[in-house]
Amino acid sequence: MRTLSLDYLEIRGARVHNLKNIDLKLPHNQMTVITGVSGSGKSSLAFDTIYAEGQRRYVESMSAYARQFLERIAKPDVEEISGIAPAIAIRQKNTSRNPRSTVATATEIYDFLRLLFARAGRVYCGRCGGRVKKDSVDEVAAQVLSLEPGSRWYVLFPIRGTGDQVSTETLKSHLFELRAKGFNRLFQQGRTFEFSTPESLLEIDFRQPLFALADRLAVGPASDLRQRVVDTVESCFRESGEAVFESAEDPTRQIRFSEKFECKDCRVVYEEPEPRLFSFNSPFGACPRCQGFGNIMDFDMERVIPDPTLTLDQGAVEPWTKPAYQKFLLKLKRDARGQGLRFDVPYRELKQKEKDLVLEGVRRFFARLEQKKYKMHVRVFLSRYRGYGQCPECRGARLRPEALQVRVGGKNIAEVVALSLEQAQPFFDGLQLTPEETAIADKVLQEIRQRTLFLNDVGLEYLTLDRLASTLSGGEAQRIQLATSLGSHLVGACYVLDEPSIGLHSRDTARLIKILAELRGLGNTILVVEHDRDVMRAADHIVDLGPGAGERGGEVVFRGPYSKLVANGGGSLTGRYLSGQIKIPVPAARRRLDPKQQLRFYGAFAHNLKSIDVALPLHALVAITGVSGSGKSTLVHDVVYQGLRVVGNRAAEEYFAPQGLEGEDLAGSQARLWCRKIEGAERIEEVILVDQSPIGRTPRSNPVTYSKAFDLIRDVFAHTPEARKRSYTPGHFSFNISGGRCETCQGDGTVTVEMQFLADVELVCEDCKGKRYKSSVLEIQFQGRNIHEVLQLTIDEALAFFAAYPRITAKLKLLADIGLGYLRLGQSATTLSGGEAQRVKLAAQLARARCDRTLYIFDEPTTGLHFDDIAKLLGAFRRLINNGGSVLVIEHNLDVTKTADWVIDLGPEGGERGGRIVVQGTPEQVAECAESYTGRYLQEVLVDQRQACPDRAEAYPRVQ
Ligand code: ADP
Ligand code: ADP
Ligand code: ZN
Ligand code: ZN
Repeated sequence: MRTLSLDYLEIRGARVHNLKNIDLKLPHNQMTVITGVSGSGKSSLAFDTIYAEGQRRYVESMSAYARQFLERIAKPDVEEISGIAPAIAIRQKNTSRNPRSTVATATEIYDFLRLLFARAGRVYCGRCGGRVKKDSVDEVAAQVLSLEPGSRWYVLFPIRGTGDQVSTETLKSHLFELRAKGFNRLFQQGRTFEFSTPESLLEIDFRQPLFALADRLAVGPASDLRQRVVDTVESCFRESGEAVFESAEDPTRQIRFSEKFECKDCRVVYEEPEPRLFSFNSPFGACPRCQGFGNIMDFDMERVIPDPTLTLDQGAVEPWTKPAYQKFLLKLKRDARGQGLRFDVPYRELKQKEKDLVLEGVRRFFARLEQKKYKMHVRVFLSRYRGYGQCPECRGARLRPEALQVRVGGKNIAEVVALSLEQAQPFFDGLQLTPEETAIADKVLQEIRQRTLFLNDVGLEYLTLDRLASTLSGGEAQRIQLATSLGSHLVGACYVLDEPSIGLHSRDTARLIKILAELRGLGNTILVVEHDRDVMRAADHIVDLGPGAGERGGEVVFRGPYSKLVANGGGSLTGRYLSGQIKIPVPAARRRLDPKQQLRFYGAFAHNLKSIDVALPLHALVAITGVSGSGKSTLVHDVVYQGLRVVGNRAAEEYFAPQGLEGEDLAGSQARLWCRKIEGAERIEEVILVDQSPIGRTPRSNPVTYSKAFDLIRDVFAHTPEARKRSYTPGHFSFNISGGRCETCQGDGTVTVEMQFLADVELVCEDCKGKRYKSSVLEIQFQGRNIHEVLQLTIDEALAFFAAYPRITAKLKLLADIGLGYLRLGQSATTLSGGEAQRVKLAAQLARARCDRTLYIFDEPTTGLHFDDIAKLLGAFRRLINNGGSVLVIEHNLDVTKTADWVIDLGPEGGERGGRIVVQGTPEQVAECAESYTGRYLQEVLVDQRQACPDRAEAYPRVQ
């Protein structure tokens, strides 16, 4: 048990959105889960009230300069919040806008790496590969003292200005300066020269290297000699930066020391590394050829080798499969003879050294073709392979060559960031620094070690440090922010998180909980909006909002520990689900799958997929499962969705990747096949991705416009007697076209003001006061309400209001049926959560009478959904399938997986160790597979609900 802190975050009278004037005390330094059905007010409480106020106070505590913007940040509608700490929101939005941002930069690991490389990096000569370093006086002394005892040495330093271009006059004055300092002997080719007058210099050949003699010494006991060596070398360094020891016995034996940062063999002076040398965002460090992007407009190897599962002999290099160019493959065979290049191994399995040979061959081939560009067909041919290719200068490392010659633990910084987090951890843990390096770099190394540890802990071990932030999913981005926060050691803050379990397999929830507990352990208060059972179980405190959504929600229906929520479960919907009083049932019988009705994808290879063959049964609910990073999104988005878009619904021909790419319409687009062949595409006419992206980017789109109910409503208004008298058309009731809308805000109701240092602020339009229409239009009423007031109705209210208009209610009812009855008709798209947007899209699809030959794809549709909402969602899936459609979902939620007709489990792990099918079949069959993580969890869920489902899967042959 954790001891309860007496400190509370206290909220009184919160009324934001649908919150019903609620009072709440949340314990500090504890983890509180806020739960409740979708639309019950969780975000309104966590983000729009607590976080917003915490943020406002935080700004208040800052400089006067920042404060001047403060009054423009709207104060949340709450009477009082006391005991609030600076708040940090960690949301699922992928906020990265910089195209060069990577996992390493987003987590600050890269900043620490730059310091590490600048302080403890070893520089190697670009010419000879030898170590580049400065000689310190101490190192010189140690080395000299270890020479043969009794040996005698001249200690010299070179005189500047001798050699080829002698300017005798300046040289002479320099020599007399030295003499004044006490260096009155010169040294050249074994001879010493005393000099006192200009005449005494006559014997010296100024075209030959000339030295000043600083000392003569014989190697003896350290106690006598050390200080003398140190003094002498220091004065040599002071005069020339160099000290040369020449043996008195053997003039050919010279040992040269230099305090310059140079390769002692090549005498090339290097710049000492500094942090900005390793920054690809700075012109100082960026590769001059690609400006730090790592790629340039060149030949796109993904087009040249579209299917890396082929061997070179099988035609991996696509242009060389053309009869006219087949000879280039033979040429490569000749050129690469004896260099170990294998022609009978799939390209993707070749070693980097082998791939480099192929790349070279391809470059030579294109260079040859370039010379024939005057021919039209050659130009057309070349253009097919153009695209962004790896920068040949830095090979994608993004840095200038000097930066890449610096190594830590044997790797340069580009090689370090190419490691996956799983590989990075042992690398950093195992780094051996010298005592001097430790002194300057140990702290930095600690920071890096800690961060990689956290990133592994939140289940992101499969990401490489150089992975572009823009390619991360929302869940991954959120967990990266979480790990970064933990690394920043901030204490006394209030963290507000938005369903951090999204994208995580049940297997990894425990690791997430551990991280949250650590963040709390540092002395922070954690508020988590969450539906996951395990996260709730781990919380110190639960706040359950409800009882319903929207107007019917906004109240606290339970607060207290998990055990109490489960025990007196009757009190809230959440409690009843958690205690098992209500359950989402496992279907008594699963759908019969017709083996003739399926889509087959052969040799899927994108990202980590290991050339797998996948069959998707149609007219069924198919779930793709697997741990994070196992390849689910890659399979569904890249292979299935993109693949079907490329081949269209053409009949059962075979589409091999190269041909698929040839279509003219595809030349400019990014779409391409990520598998060798697709079969059954003719069974599908339409593929619809029902994702969580907003239904519109302006405040003008909203649930009624999206569902097309608004057209009908505007018609109703245009037909009122008053509107007819004034000749108002339906267009007058639109806020998308001018006529009836307020022109000041163009129908938005708000205007956006850009603020320099803070996020843009939305202010209510002064003209229409947020009503979005001209006052003349607002004079028209239908059943006592004007158009603005109608848009303020919730969908449930509108159902009653328009009861006499079945065409309108039919559309609205679809929204209400999937649990969106609480939304207001005019609630702008920009305020809908991702989950709400997804369900508005789903409702629009349900409006279609039939959806035969339509494949629906959902990516974690349970995001933001409470158990009770999931039941509704499953109902909607059933409806789509009954109407003739097929549903494919990526999902971790076991209530969905157990309901699926067919489960394809990817894995076994994330990243390179994933990308295979671990098991596929009915949930019961998957549950029996011991190797499958999903199976283990399904087993638990199914164990008390086991139903016999004989032979169904046997009737369904697998692809082999
Ligand atoms: P939850 O997070 O529990 O799903 P929300 O706090 O997002 O619920 O929403 C609670 C209610 O407030 C819903 O009726 C929702 O439509 C409404 N709401 C949310 N954001 C806004 C907003 N920016 N403007 C008006 N209403 C909103
Ligand atoms: P899942 O959806 O199962 O979490 P993904 O399909 O997103 O897994 O990822 C599978 C593998 O492919 C992972 O190793 C991931 O890092 C890698 N990957 C995914 N997207 C990209 C991308 N845009 N660039 C590089 N690697 C990627
Ligand atoms: Zn480059
Ligand atoms: Zn206006």
